[in-house]
Amino acid sequence: MPKSQIESPVQYLKGIGPKKAEVLNSVGIKTIEDILYYLPRKYLDRSTFTPINQLQPNTQATVIGKVEALGIKKGRKNRFQVILKDKTGYLNLIWFANLKYVQNAFEAEDVVIASGEISFYNGLQMAHPEFEIISGNGDELIHTGRVIPVYPSTARLRKLNLDSRGFRRILKPFLERVEQVVEETLPQPIVSEQHLLPLSWALKNIHFPENLSVAEQARQRLAFDELFYLELMLALRKKRLTDSPEGIPFQKPGSLIKQLLNKLLFKLTEAQRKVLREIAHDMMSKKPMNRLLQGDVGSGKTVVALISMMMAVESGYQAAFMAPTEILAEQHYLTIHKLAEELGIKIVLLTSSVPKKEKDAILGQISLGEASIVIGTQALIQEKVKFYRVGLAVIDEQHRFGVMQRALLKQKGHQPDVLIMTATPIPRTLALTAYGDLDVSVIDQLPPGRKPIETILRDEKTRPEVYRFLDKKISSGRQVYIVYPLIEETEKLDLKAATEGYEKLKKEVFPNRRVGLIHGRIKNTDREAIMQKFRKGEFDILVSTTVIEVGVDVPNSSIMVIEHAERFGLSQLHQLRGRVGRGAEQSFCFLMANYPLSLDAKERLQALCSTTDGFKIAELDLKLRGPGEFFGTKQHGLPELKVADLIRDLKLLYEARRWAFKIIEEDPFLLKAENQLLRTHFLRRYKDKFGLGNIG
Ligand code: ADP
Ligand code: MG
Repeated sequence: MPKSQIESPVQYLKGIGPKKAEVLNSVGIKTIEDILYYLPRKYLDRSTFTPINQLQPNTQATVIGKVEALGIKKGRKNRFQVILKDKTGYLNLIWFANLKYVQNAFEAEDVVIASGEISFYNGLQMAHPEFEIISGNGDELIHTGRVIPVYPSTARLRKLNLDSRGFRRILKPFLERVEQVVEETLPQPIVSEQHLLPLSWALKNIHFPENLSVAEQARQRLAFDELFYLELMLALRKKRLTDSPEGIPFQKPGSLIKQLLNKLLFKLTEAQRKVLREIAHDMMSKKPMNRLLQGDVGSGKTVVALISMMMAVESGYQAAFMAPTEILAEQHYLTIHKLAEELGIKIVLLTSSVPKKEKDAILGQISLGEASIVIGTQALIQEKVKFYRVGLAVIDEQHRFGVMQRALLKQKGHQPDVLIMTATPIPRTLALTAYGDLDVSVIDQLPPGRKPIETILRDEKTRPEVYRFLDKKISSGRQVYIVYPLIEETEKLDLKAATEGYEKLKKEVFPNRRVGLIHGRIKNTDREAIMQKFRKGEFDILVSTTVIEVGVDVPNSSIMVIEHAERFGLSQLHQLRGRVGRGAEQSFCFLMANYPLSLDAKERLQALCSTTDGFKIAELDLKLRGPGEFFGTKQHGLPELKVADLIRDLKLLYEARRWAFKIIEEDPFLLKAENQLLRTHFLRRYKDKFGLGNIG
């Protein structure tokens, strides 16, 4: 097979007929290259088998033996047991779950390899081992006596014998001659200076490594590739963004900004002033701004956005501000519009629930340039919204919008400056990947006088105590949020729980207090009224679903109770909690959790109780959930990383990034002869994924 045929359909491989090909296609394995990159989920070290009489409790081991007896054992809890025999003794393999599956998997006399932890319970046993049944048809060489790859599989794949064994059987002979098919794609200087092992070697050895450290070397080579191409994409994007010639050079901040600063009720923090200098510098320059503004909840991003928008307005441009939810858009509107209007600046709110007639009027004001500042939700990027002259787009994205939305909003103007705000402190690795094409500003300081929120874990037993505490605080004038989770898949049930919780609180627990309810299903105008009432102190308690997650700002509300805290992710809890701790009073956050908790949940809740540092929380969240979940990387138009691990491979990431940016700096269109292979490979693997269009 000639080298170019790595793109050939997967059925060109021996052992794959039309049927298998069809199923493989359905899981995304279409070409030979795809199957080469179908990587083991883990390895079993079968290079050494331990004789049964030498097994030690509490160690990992692999044994090989024959099935002597097997069956379901009835008891308080049924279990399935296999008695394995080798020359030296007997070992019990035991399962407490998936009994049907394992029962079907084994037969008497089967030769079995089992790996797992040895424990002692009425003799030696191995619970829920990894196992492989050796049929004795000559497969042993592929499947035993070495480090064995274990592949992900599905029921459909297994039906066609495409289990781990099946993949091994197809891949092993092919990998023997993989050098003939796979060529190096990285430029020589990178390969030699980074001491990269050959790509074909890496592919061979990630599938069938001699030992685990070889597997890790292979993984690192492939991880480097993956990170390099990702950073190459980001470098290209950034180059295109900053090289576009016709950005707007805004005027130096003048009297309007001065007036605005005078009207603020507080002094800007040093951190706010620092980021404003960075933003102003970008805005005054001719090259379009693409800046990420990072700041923990409560660090005061809104006012930074407002000042930036006023800078655009002062230069005769419009500014657009896109928020992820209606409540948040409304909130920003309420915060900003009084100030703006005192300065004679027209500001409008555009969301999808603005009534049609009103909306038409607003659209008119936007297109004629009568509205200088437009605040809204995603409604802003609809086609019918035409700006007169938008110069700055602010996106308060809380990682909900993706690259597409950013681009669409940007297209509403001619090279407007873009400021993206996020409240989640972004671990460095993600800043370099998910936001790798942006410049970053960080507000690393909270406004003065904030007391750290005290966070307390409670359960059903201690609930009455929590309620007594709330009552006392309400008596002294504080307000309270009680938050119920609302998760999309279980939305109906969750909504019911929130409504019922509200009824109970109102009628039974706090009959003498004023209790309000707010959630996403309440009509927009009513919701606004409820928020207004809460803000004015006309409710003591606001029961809500997670609609208040972002942006709500009522400083007098200093206590929050989060129901079913175990159901939330760490960052989300941190965001929620950030709704309190905004005033001078000591704030409290009660995490109500239902036992028993999973280990993960326990770790999350404990972390939250022990720190209010958003950075630490984000790092831990990333560790617990992985980058995909943490960020919804898909939304960001980033590929899922198959090999690289953003936590472990930080050093590789830096190196890959350095190379990628260097190459694009020297050869922005990848036209040089020495970059042709790179270019071909990049386009082939990445172009359709990113809709780049800028190269090629
Ligand atoms: P976030 O960064 O979470 O969006 P906000 O912009 O909502 O934070 O600000 C949180 C609160 O802090 C608001 O009530 C805001 O008015 C107040 N605030 C912002 N900057 C300052 C400051 N420099 N000094 C005092 N209070 C401030
Ligand atoms: Mg905010």
